[in-house]
Amino acid sequence: MREWIEREANELLPELIEWRRDFHRNPELGFEEVRTAGVVAAHLQEQGLEVSTGIGKTGVIAMVEPDGLDEDSETVLLRFDMDALPILEETGLPFASQNPGVMHACGHDGHTAIGMGVAKLLARHRNELPGRVKLVFQPAEEGLGGAKAMIEDGALDEPQPAASYGLHLWSRLPYKQVVVQPGPLWAAADIFTLTIRGQGGHGATPHDTIDATYVASQVVVALQSIVARNANPADTAVVTVGSFQSGTAGNVISEQAVLKGTMRSFEPEVRDLLRARLDEVCAGVCQAMGATYEISMQSCVPPTVNSEEGARLMEVVANGVVGGENVAQIPPMMVGEDMAEFLNRAPGCFVLVGAANPDEGFYSPHHSPTFDFEESVMPTGVALLTEAAFAQLSLRQSGGDMPEG
Ligand SMILES: [Zn+2]
Ligand SMILES: [Zn+2]
Repeated sequence: MREWIEREANELLPELIEWRRDFHRNPELGFEEVRTAGVVAAHLQEQGLEVSTGIGKTGVIAMVEPDGLDEDSETVLLRFDMDALPILEETGLPFASQNPGVMHACGHDGHTAIGMGVAKLLARHRNELPGRVKLVFQPAEEGLGGAKAMIEDGALDEPQPAASYGLHLWSRLPYKQVVVQPGPLWAAADIFTLTIRGQGGHGATPHDTIDATYVASQVVVALQSIVARNANPADTAVVTVGSFQSGTAGNVISEQAVLKGTMRSFEPEVRDLLRARLDEVCAGVCQAMGATYEISMQSCVPPTVNSEEGARLMEVVANGVVGGENVAQIPPMMVGEDMAEFLNRAPGCFVLVGAANPDEGFYSPHHSPTFDFEESVMPTGVALLTEAAFAQLSLRQSGGDMPEG
């Protein structure tokens, strides 16, 4: 590892904390990160970088490159997400959300601060870079398709990145550990809304109605047969109906029921099976009961898969930053993450940075109203991605050989 990276990343801690707490105090929902993007863009400009804003609505991109770089030099992409969640914060922290009902409960405030730290170090050392770095600050990771929006807006166009790297702080992992996983890390996540229409009527005259509540109940039960009886037990799959809304009064038979749910998988064949069976099961049950239905799919994220080369590079980097004994692997989780969109087009690695510290009370799960993380891990995130950028760009120069620890 470059000798200055760890030292300079550690020196950034007070600034990282200040930035992170500012974002935490002022959380913004997906595609509404106007203030956050403004703070990021101003910081990047202060570092003397060329900055583009409004990419995928509220995304920000900055380029870091040495003077006199060859046109055909390689580009590596580093991605950081910026959005918060619709959650009422209950941490009681002095820097708690001042935007009631909106909270940074996934750690993206930390990711944004880490990205600003990486930008600062890379800009300071840009003339040592053997290529260029594209810094991507992404909106709307939480189920709203921010990565796709940025890509559709040209985030991967000239210069095209050869590889991409990103990170997630992880509050279920001890704060000195880092997870580097070749292959699938997180799952494909498909979110659906299913509207079932019957015929409403008096609660005392069921024979004149088609009861949407009853039909939807049958559908919920039948959907569980997809995992139990259609998916190969050796594969991994989840079908969850998380929301069921139907009817208005106890003596009125409901005309319409709306179910919302999610399906998770790793393999493309399994994902196709889940999506096909969702439709077939709804069609069969509704037809049998005389109801009609409509399915709309939202936020369909492919699985987050690290390439062999990307994971190997990140492992070498992580060994240097936290020591080999702290680089772990874990079973794949069913969480979805739209970094997958970047990894699918520019293979690389998404690394998890442990941020739990139960002794200090940092152990709440992500997306919980009491979520917080150990802030002292942020320099680790800065060092990992700064070194990964240098290591990736040095690969081509050295003819593709992996750097030594
Ligand atoms: Zn999240
Ligand atoms: Zn997240």
